Amino acid sequence: MGLFGRFFKKEDKEDHSQVPPKVLPMRNDLCWCDSGLKYKKCHLEQDQLYLEKQYQKELAAKKSCSPVFG
Ligand SMILES: [Zn+2]
Repeated sequence: MGLFGRFFKKEDKEDHSQVPPKVLPMRNDLCWCDSGLKYKKCHLEQDQLYLEKQYQKELAAKKSCSPVFG
């Protein structure tokens, strides 16, 4: 019975989604992903899209569970 072991190994290997770190580098600093590229040339746009999506999600969550005032 090595079912769980297999499952875990598979999940561990799949590292496709890159989540930006909490503290982002400056535009002209090296990117956090160790690519050797400047942040603005690498993950800057991707991170902005990601953060925007997160923000929209948060907004949607707030809207759906807070009462309407005024
Ligand atoms: Zn990068």
